[in-house]
Amino acid sequence: VESSGDPILILDPDGTPAFVNSAAERLLGTLDARGGGRGGLARLVLDRRRRRELLRGLGRAGTFQAELEVLARGGPLPVELRVDRILAPDGTPAGFVAIGSDVSERRATEQRIRHLAHHDPLTDLPNRTLFRERVEQAAENALRSGGRLALMLVDLDRFKEVNDSLGHPAGDALLCAAAGRLRRLAPPGALVARLGGDEFALLLPELVDDGQLGALAERILRSLAEPFALAGRSVRSGATIGVAILPDHAPSPDGLLQHADLALYRAKAEGRGRLRLFDPEIARELCEARELEADLHEAIGAGQLRLVYQPRIEIASGRRVGAEALLRWHHPARGLVTPASFVPLAEERGLILPIGAWVLDTAAAQAAHWVRRGGPPRVSVNLSPVQFREGDPAELLAATIARHGLPPEHLEVEITEGVLLQDTPRVLATLGRIRALGVGVALDDFGTGYASLSYLRKFPLDRLKLDRSFVSDLEADGSARAVARTVIELGHALGMRVTAEGVETAGQLACLEALGCDEAQGYLTGRPVEADALSDGGPAPRPRRPRRAAVAERARSSACGVSSRPP
Ligand code: C2E
Ligand code: CA
Ligand code: CA
Repeated sequence: VESSGDPILILDPDGTPAFVNSAAERLLGTLDARGGGRGGLARLVLDRRRRRELLRGLGRAGTFQAELEVLARGGPLPVELRVDRILAPDGTPAGFVAIGSDVSERRATEQRIRHLAHHDPLTDLPNRTLFRERVEQAAENALRSGGRLALMLVDLDRFKEVNDSLGHPAGDALLCAAAGRLRRLAPPGALVARLGGDEFALLLPELVDDGQLGALAERILRSLAEPFALAGRSVRSGATIGVAILPDHAPSPDGLLQHADLALYRAKAEGRGRLRLFDPEIARELCEARELEADLHEAIGAGQLRLVYQPRIEIASGRRVGAEALLRWHHPARGLVTPASFVPLAEERGLILPIGAWVLDTAAAQAAHWVRRGGPPRVSVNLSPVQFREGDPAELLAATIARHGLPPEHLEVEITEGVLLQDTPRVLATLGRIRALGVGVALDDFGTGYASLSYLRKFPLDRLKLDRSFVSDLEADGSARAVARTVIELGHALGMRVTAEGVETAGQLACLEALGCDEAQGYLTGRPVEADALSDGGPAPRPRRPRRAAVAERARSSACGVSSRPP
């Protein structure tokens, strides 16, 4: 008993302590100091309610057990206390034994766990769970009192970039610094939370007018657009904000969060760095996207997807050198849906993997058919960045060409700069494996994104596709011409062929020829058509050869302003 670290007391039948061990002494003071008398120690260390409980327990069952606060020497102390009646051999009450154990550490741990469960460990801001609870409470109050509250979602614009390029510690520092700025800007009574990733939220329970809300959003956007000092550098991030108001935009906390989310989503789509207030139009469009998504799940199995093929010609000879496979969705109710409206959706919802596999399989089957029966000598297939991120296109290609017995040089893939911007070493390895299969790689939409020279040197590519936007402005706009010229020269310098996209007029073609561009693809030389129309001996006539003489004539006299001979 003496060596126990837990306080142990033996009490007379009237509650007067007869013995306390040294742990109890340390806790409660010596016996003399705490005194005895009726009620004894219990009277001194327990409040009145607990004392009554204890006496009742002892009277009924002879035992009492509770976690409670005792009035220890150093102040109130959480203790787990157990008191048992002691009976003499003849059955008469001989007193009590009380054993306590100090649970302050456990209490502190519990409190810490509660805090952790409700706060983000990095920024120590309330987390999604606590935020939701608070939104629910605030919504209840607002609905009861006829007030309004606003929910503001704040998303950092360049968090991922910082994380990827400067490393996770810098990413963490950015989150903490952003959290600090939000804390400082939040008006009194507002709750700032981190909902996850780079998404923060403000609950504004006492929204007076929209002007205030706009001014606050403005201050937040401005503050988060200021540079952050990270990893010894000055880095800019910026933010995008979505807001929904209760009851204006949603009558319930769930709806409020959802609608703020939609507003944010829309603000991002509109170009980031801005505030977007929810409106019903956003919800309607989303609803439509959901329907479309559900339909898209069915589309492959139901045979609603088809490929059309657009020929690519060599400018110098007018020869057809290949065809690009382009996806079409024949929706039973909506009719033809363009890829621009469903490919992004498929990418977002993970559907691009099965769709991409179907496209590749179908295009490879067509290419194999054309190898045997005559048709464009090469088929190119568009690959989505998501296929690189979530799948292994090299493996898919290997399996596909093997399945169709297709010589690999008849197949090519088109990728966009979005692919190159991903995790570089992995993408580099995948592209290397694709080329090792003997399948060509073209870079699509070149000139519109961020592809830097270093990417072009680092990644193995066969062909550059000059984006349509430069081609359409070729005749009218000197700077488009300068870009076209530069891209063509750059491509050649790096050993690539250059294809101009979206060639619609003879003047554009002449310009491109004068600039030394290798290939053209566009409505002028052939619209995307069903495969049969490109098969030699198929029902449709062969695509027209551009008339070289006329082309050269145009080039000389056109407003294009390029000499037809390279300088
Ligand atoms: P893209 O790869 O840049 O494809 C070229 C787009 O330009 C096609 O639109 C084509 O019909 C259009 N086009 C061709 N010549 C001309 C022209 O002379 N003038 C004009 N104004 N347009 C021309 P489409 O078929 O609507 O495809 C749009 C985009 O959808 C494609 O752009 C590509 O990024 C994506 N896409 C199409 N099929 C697939 C696919 O199978 N998989 C993936 N991941 N994306 C695809
Ligand atoms: Ca393409
Ligand atoms: Ca393109």
